[in-house]
Amino acid sequence: MRIDVLTIFPDMFAPLEQSMIGRARQAGKLDVVITDIRPFSASKHKNTDDYPFGGGAGMLMMAQPIMDAIRAVAPDPYPGKRILMSPRGQTLTQPLADELSRESSLMILCGHYEGVDERVIEGTIDMEISIGDYVLTGGELPAMVLIDCLARKIEGVLGSEESAETESFAMPGLLEYPQYTRPRVFEGREVPEVLLSGDHKKIEEWRRRQSLLITASRRPDLLKKAAISEREEEWLAENGYLLS
Ligand code: SAH
Repeated sequence: MRIDVLTIFPDMFAPLEQSMIGRARQAGKLDVVITDIRPFSASKHKNTDDYPFGGGAGMLMMAQPIMDAIRAVAPDPYPGKRILMSPRGQTLTQPLADELSRESSLMILCGHYEGVDERVIEGTIDMEISIGDYVLTGGELPAMVLIDCLARKIEGVLGSEESAETESFAMPGLLEYPQYTRPRVFEGREVPEVLLSGDHKKIEEWRRRQSLLITASRRPDLLKKAAISEREEEWLAENGYLLS
């Protein structure tokens, strides 16, 4: 997959050179191209922002540099989705990231200051995505959150295909069970016996029940949407968690 990112702060994207995303890029599983909007500015001093018409606090990113940058990297007709990171957008969820991971190309525009001239959105943006109900100074961190989240759904990006299947939100809608690695005893705390038993059926059942308990205590809203059996519902009720 190819992802084009448009930003006025290209250096902020250094984290995408590290760890699994960095390796995926080197292995050619993921092509992330960061484009600086500033050189596209037609103004003498390469300005990219200006005062908002009608007044109000802060600066707004001007349409011209962004539109010219978009025409250069993601011209019409565009094969994928052209996204603006924005607190006004659809909230990022795992199913949305899964859906976007199946596109062949994505363009991500990062706003800054008070945001971008609305005419950019009308003219070129297919969807606005928010990473949560809070406001950040720019779209760069949100863009990296989105890229990280969808990239791990691209084949070959994670170490093993399995790990994306069982974790929180993937199974469907349950939070992940507790996990342990060596040593068996750490500062007096022991790994639950069942995990050392080698009995895969028992381990499966223990993990499932832990997931149910953690989800019931922390996110009962998720449990209502998850696929759980009548027996599991009864078992939760016996443990003090009534679903309705
Ligand atoms: N005035 C705007 C906020 C601008 S924040 C408003 O009230 O909606 C500046 C930029 O940061 C935005 O253009 C957007 O690209 C990015 N941003 C801030 N918070 C974000 C969030 N929760 N999700 C996605 N992008 C966000």
